[in-house]
Amino acid sequence: MRRTRTTGVIALAATAALALAACSSDDGGGDTDADAGSETTDTMEEEEGAGGEGLTIGIKFDQPGLGFMDGDTPSGFDVDVAKYVASELGYSEDQIEWVEAPSAQRETLLSTGQVDMIFATYSITDERREQVSYAGPYFVAGQDLLVAADNTDITGPDALDGKNLCSVTGSTSAQRIKDEYSEGVNLLEQPGYAECVTALTSGQVDAVTTDDIILAGLGAQPANAGQVKVVGNTFSEERYGVGIPQESEQCEDINAALTQMIEDGSWQEYIDAATEGTGYTPNSDLNPPEFDPCDM
Ligand code: GLU
Repeated sequence: MRRTRTTGVIALAATAALALAACSSDDGGGDTDADAGSETTDTMEEEEGAGGEGLTIGIKFDQPGLGFMDGDTPSGFDVDVAKYVASELGYSEDQIEWVEAPSAQRETLLSTGQVDMIFATYSITDERREQVSYAGPYFVAGQDLLVAADNTDITGPDALDGKNLCSVTGSTSAQRIKDEYSEGVNLLEQPGYAECVTALTSGQVDAVTTDDIILAGLGAQPANAGQVKVVGNTFSEERYGVGIPQESEQCEDINAALTQMIEDGSWQEYIDAATEGTGYTPNSDLNPPEFDPCDM
């Protein structure tokens, strides 16, 4: 795709291999053409353009209903939204390379050109905007708590005194606990929410905290169903944006795709599919959301 090509191609061994293969077969050995040398990258860029090289998209691999990787098949709301946007930008599904984007690595993946876009329950924040840009938001969730099914004393964030809590490194969820509710709370940080749920079901922690829609998906997994419940007392607005590198010029095009996705009913269809059987309903006052201006 069109962006700062060289960095992305070099950073991605697999993509680079494909790109080089495409180059040598398409132009009969671009390097040896009369205009080779410094022109090589430009030639590849022109010939491949949108729809040639492919698109590298960061998603979660361990959040059922949102971003989940089963073998090499990704699924979930973020994946559906990503495929829709990619298609509107001219990429077929087989041109998408899916890369795992754990919470703590998202800014780095974008700013080093390892991914072109991130659809990974990625809240838009001013702090993150110092390193990355966003299109959207395309969904608004809220931070909540997951507790044991028989728990009655953890009713919200103000009832965490003396409790052991688990969240994920690099998330707004962990940061909010540290910033606003740290007193008397023992926070265990893990690389992903699935590890936190294991800590909860094994009795190591009293609660897991992150966005309600993530907790609902994890809680409905057959292994956890009946053992845990979402408290249902949200204490933030998590506005999920499409993460893009700061130098990207694709915000407007992505927003146009998101608008169409909402207007043609796909957004509702994807949300329904993602939350089916979880007991979760999106906050209809906040969804589907208004977009931020692209020049923020
Ligand atoms: N939406 C929050 C965030 O972006 C929490 C979920 C996550 O870690 O992906 O940090």
